[in-house]
Amino acid sequence: MNVVVLLGAPGAGKGTQAPPLAARLGIPVVATGDLFRAAVRDGSQLGREARRYMDAGQLVPDEITVSLLLERLARPDAAAGVILDGFPRTAVQAKALDVALAERGASVSVAILVDVPADELVRRMSGRWICRAAGHPYHETSSPPRAAGICDVDGSELYQRADDQPTTIRARMDQQLGALAQVVEHYRASGVLRTVDGLQPIEAVSAAVGAALAGTGVAMAR
Ligand code: AMP
Repeated sequence: MNVVVLLGAPGAGKGTQAPPLAARLGIPVVATGDLFRAAVRDGSQLGREARRYMDAGQLVPDEITVSLLLERLARPDAAAGVILDGFPRTAVQAKALDVALAERGASVSVAILVDVPADELVRRMSGRWICRAAGHPYHETSSPPRAAGICDVDGSELYQRADDQPTTIRARMDQQLGALAQVVEHYRASGVLRTVDGLQPIEAVSAAVGAALAGTGVAMAR
């Protein structure tokens, strides 16, 4: 089982890198943010609980997050491996993932940190818009849609997530950068950490992410 962890602060570009990488590796992206947003849309109890934290720009408690992730990993399409986007976000989550994988005789193959300085993250996040239908990401200045407010891919309306409003961005940053540093240390200590420069153009970041897989045993399907 290939487990690729994509690490980066909110706005670092993990969400842009994950789908093309998944296509090249032939394994699905599992993004806990997407799982939570789906739960919110479904109106499930877990969704209602998670929403309180998400709208406030806070991390959802580890217990809820870990059980949601493990449920997803147990699905058949995850058997050959997954790309994790947005998980783990705390040291507790990273340890819980190690334990769950060890029970299957597996481990994290590589953890790739997409590294971007904090001031650039705030700039990026405050201009981010995503589409209602599928979450395709746009940015006011660096990757605007062809027609304002409309998704190029599926024509659905673009909106700014409640947790991407400038007032909640700082709150997200302060909490999440501290936790991210612990997760980075966790993977550095276990020897699977690779760092790529997230300030490069998107294509160069993709190439660096691909290069970071060399020697990890994770094979490209194409
Ligand atoms: P994202 O789409 O990854 O930015 O996630 C959106 C929101 O979902 C985050 O701000 C958190 O409130 C919540 N969330 C997603 N992943 C996690 C996680 N691994 N741990 C805790 N909360 C999470």
